Amino acid sequence: MSQNTQIGKTIVEAARNVSLWAQELREDFHRHPELRFEEHRTAGRCATELEKLGIPVRRGVGRTGVVGTLEGGRGPGPVIAFRAEMDALAMQDMCGAAYQSENDGVAHLCGHDGHVASLLGAAAVLAGLRDQLAGTVKFFFEPSEEATPPDEICGAEAMIEDDALDNPSVDAVFGAHFFPDWKAGTVAVKPGVVFSGNDVVRLIVRGRESHSAVPHDGIDAIYVASQIVTATQGLMAHMDINEAISLHWTTINGGRISNLIASEVTLEGSFRFSDISLRERMPGQIEQLVKGICDAFGATHELDFGVRPMPAVVSSAPEVDIVRRAVLDGLGESALVDMKQPRLAADTMFHWLRRTGGVFYMVGTASDDPATQYPSHHQKFDIAPETFPAAVATIALTASRFLDERGPRSTSQK
Ligand SMILES: [Zn+2]
Repeated sequence: MSQNTQIGKTIVEAARNVSLWAQELREDFHRHPELRFEEHRTAGRCATELEKLGIPVRRGVGRTGVVGTLEGGRGPGPVIAFRAEMDALAMQDMCGAAYQSENDGVAHLCGHDGHVASLLGAAAVLAGLRDQLAGTVKFFFEPSEEATPPDEICGAEAMIEDDALDNPSVDAVFGAHFFPDWKAGTVAVKPGVVFSGNDVVRLIVRGRESHSAVPHDGIDAIYVASQIVTATQGLMAHMDINEAISLHWTTINGGRISNLIASEVTLEGSFRFSDISLRERMPGQIEQLVKGICDAFGATHELDFGVRPMPAVVSSAPEVDIVRRAVLDGLGESALVDMKQPRLAADTMFHWLRRTGGVFYMVGTASDDPATQYPSHHQKFDIAPETFPAAVATIALTASRFLDERGPRSTSQK
């Protein structure tokens, strides 16, 4: 039996043993959700639990973030970090469970409570194996992942600016996202783009106001805007089916009163794309289409891409390979799912992954219980208990394998 297999068995066993505790932690976080940069209670509990495990903690990293640093007992070596987001959504929880949110209008409907709980569970497993680790494991509890306004920096950026990646400097960052698209107990992973990029697009169409009794004096901005809505969807229908892309106009505002032709319409949209080349190519193509329609009716426009750009989340192949083998060896073939397509979602994980190598992988959360089959961000979203042993084990298995395979650092490395 190889050393990896042996330690793998110990980890899976230990993960099973702490998973009930992780579930209790998750229920506690679920009951007390907090919005971006207000995660004081959550961060406090994370820091306290880490300290109880004998893991030194830095609090207030990037405002409300927490960094725990576990140094292995077998001497210095590579440094691996895991990140879990702490913030909840400004939505009403309708899960109906005993641990339903006690915070009106705030709810953990994206699984972040589970991310935090499973990372603490893994910290417990790894702290128990400290003497067998050569290298360092850092635990990042990240604030403000959800919907940061364009003029504000998100929690990941705030933590990076506050030196989370330094002292000791991190070689790779890993993060997991819970999703009901896969069965609880499974882990889905792919190299390359995992979450698409995402951008908010803003369009203003300007026509000319006139009384509706004299339409020839006006330029109807609502009519022109509706042509643009239809035409941009037509453009999407002509994309390469192997590329994941979407543009949806999600707000539309214009007009003043029922007997006046509207002079101005403002639209906002969500633009998502699986490949950076689409991000470079499409704005020009969309601009051309919008201009063509506006010109035809004598309207003018302003089109802004990059209102809130979120680049794609990209996992690096060598590190993906480590997660794959960690899951295969530790949890078996049935636990591993090879993700085919990126998801058209966005996540601040890109901030970490563009600075170091690393992986963003998915953890399945659905069981036969219908309560666990609602999609993320649904008011009834809930997580199957069977999720936790696999979620905890995957983190600890990956950490131990990464430290082992990367080996001791040479002095030329920082
Ligand atoms: Zn999320």
